[in-house]
Amino acid sequence: MFFSVLYWLKERLRDAWLWPLNLVRDFPARSGRLARTIFVGVTALGRLPFFMGKAARAGTLRCQLRHAVRQSGIWLHLFLVQLFDLVGGPEICQFVMHLGLHTTPLTAAELTAVQPIFGPPNLRYQDVRIAQGGILHLIFRYNGGLAFATWYTIHLPVKREGGKGTAVSSRQNLPLLVHELTHVFQYHHVGSRYLGEAIYYLVTTSRNCYQYGGRANLRIYHQQGQRLRHFNREQQAQIIQDYFTQHRQNQDTSAYEPFLVQLRQRDL
Ligand SMILES: [Zn+2]
Repeated sequence: MFFSVLYWLKERLRDAWLWPLNLVRDFPARSGRLARTIFVGVTALGRLPFFMGKAARAGTLRCQLRHAVRQSGIWLHLFLVQLFDLVGGPEICQFVMHLGLHTTPLTAAELTAVQPIFGPPNLRYQDVRIAQGGILHLIFRYNGGLAFATWYTIHLPVKREGGKGTAVSSRQNLPLLVHELTHVFQYHHVGSRYLGEAIYYLVTTSRNCYQYGGRANLRIYHQQGQRLRHFNREQQAQIIQDYFTQHRQNQDTSAYEPFLVQLRQRDL
C-alpha cells in the first residue's frame, strides 16, 4: 500500500514536471504551427474580397460563401488547438485526468514490439502512459469499451470474456496498442488537432471511419498517388495496426510499406 501511494505520487510529480518541460522543449514546434496557421488565415482574409467579387460576377457567390464558412471553421479549430498546445494545455489536462487513474509506462516487451514500427527517434516512448481503472470503467461503459488516446495517454478497457465474465486486460492486445500509439504519434507531430479530427470522423461517420478497403485497395491508392496524410486519423491508425498484425503473421505487407515509410517521415 505504502509503495503504491509512493508510486502514484511519483507519477503525479512527473505529470506536473512535464508542463514546464514541454512548454520549453515543444515551444519551437508549437509556435511554428501556430504561426503558420495565423499566416494562412491572414493571407486568406486578404484574398477574400477578390474571390467574393469574382464569385459574384460568376453567379457562384452562395457556393463560395458556404465554402468560406467551412474553411473558417477548420481554421478556427486549428487556431484554438494550437493556442491550447502553446500554453501547455495537453500537460495540464493530463495532470488533472491522471489524478483519478492508475498509469504505467510501456513495458520493455511493449517497447521492443512497437519501436520498429514508429522508429526510435520519432516518439518520446518514456513519456507514454497506459491508463487503466478509476473513472475509466464508467467511460468505457458508455463508449462501448472503445480504447482511446488523449495526447500521451492511452486508455485501455478491461474486457469481460467467457461465461463467468472474467476480466481480461486489453493490455495484452499489442495491435490495439499500436493503433493507439499511432494517435500518440499523430499528436506528437501535428499537435492536438488530431483529437478534434478523429472525433469529427467518429461522429460524422457513426464510427465507420476505420475502413480503408484493406490491402488490395491500399495498393491501388498508392498507385494513384494517395499518401498516408490523405486518410483520416482513424484510417491512419487502422492501417498501421493492420500492418503490425499482418507483419507478425508473416503475411505479405508490401502494400502497407509505402505508408509506413511516410509515417516514419512524419508526413501526416
Ligand atoms: Zn483510433
